[in-house]
Amino acid sequence: MNDIDVLVSEVGPRDGLQSIDATMPTDVKVAWIRAQAAAGCREIEVGSFVPPSILPQMADTADVVREALTIEGLTVAVLVPNLRGAENAIAAGAHKISIPFSVSETHSLRNLRRSHEQVIDEVRGIAALVAAQKTPPHFEAGLSTAFGCSLEGPVSEDVVVRSAERLIEAGAAEVGLSDTTGYANPVQVKRLIRRVQAAVGKKHITGVHLHNTRGLGLANALAALEEGITTIDSSLGGIGGCPFAPGASGNIVTEDLVFMLEAMGLKTGIDIDRLIAVRDIVRAALPNEPLYGFIPEAGLPKGF
Ligand code: ZN
Repeated sequence: MNDIDVLVSEVGPRDGLQSIDATMPTDVKVAWIRAQAAAGCREIEVGSFVPPSILPQMADTADVVREALTIEGLTVAVLVPNLRGAENAIAAGAHKISIPFSVSETHSLRNLRRSHEQVIDEVRGIAALVAAQKTPPHFEAGLSTAFGCSLEGPVSEDVVVRSAERLIEAGAAEVGLSDTTGYANPVQVKRLIRRVQAAVGKKHITGVHLHNTRGLGLANALAALEEGITTIDSSLGGIGGCPFAPGASGNIVTEDLVFMLEAMGLKTGIDIDRLIAVRDIVRAALPNEPLYGFIPEAGLPKGF
């Protein structure tokens, strides 16, 4: 992190690919990850350890992790829904594991089929497993639906803060704020980051995971940076889109985020031209999936 100002964490191979029906072949996933690492991306979430019956697109995650680990300087991140997933992630050698914690308990019960209490138990189990490793992976809990829930509507900020405290107490090294539903606005982003920082300490919250469902993704990213956040998730071409809003990308688009940051004088370590070229790999493998992004369409400003 010493030579860059902001860590752009690519989540396309996980968040993007799990949102579409088509399954990208393993060798294409690996080619994508290699090309994006070569463009300068330091951290990539390469898949998730969920049962293949639920997400067949992620069935090859162990293989993808194994290949990704051969890329020098790349932090290989994965998502896990529970202790079982974490065991698989650790066996595969992932550097970073994240578990989602839905602040909206309705969402948690519906999507993870677990109450808050049950997820906290999983976190405790994972923390113990992580602590027992010779080279422990970084263990983070993502506070999903932190800015609003499509089932419950507004989500109480007190509950977000309390959840963050409980996750750190249960052994997560860090919590992240996730705008799963794309409801967040910049004022809310700033306020909630400040509140969570005050509750758990700044070093326990360094990242945000934003969606661009309603077009506020980059505005929210800037708001987060202004509060001291240094890791921002995004996905190449906004792959995956938003099933509820045709024409809207799902995650914020990596190409546009990198452009904004570099244009502001913040170093990402990423070469934008090489990053844009990575789209060709994804497009060739998934010709029916739209790729989003303003910079790839409009081009870089003259003299950039
Ligand atoms: Zn997401």
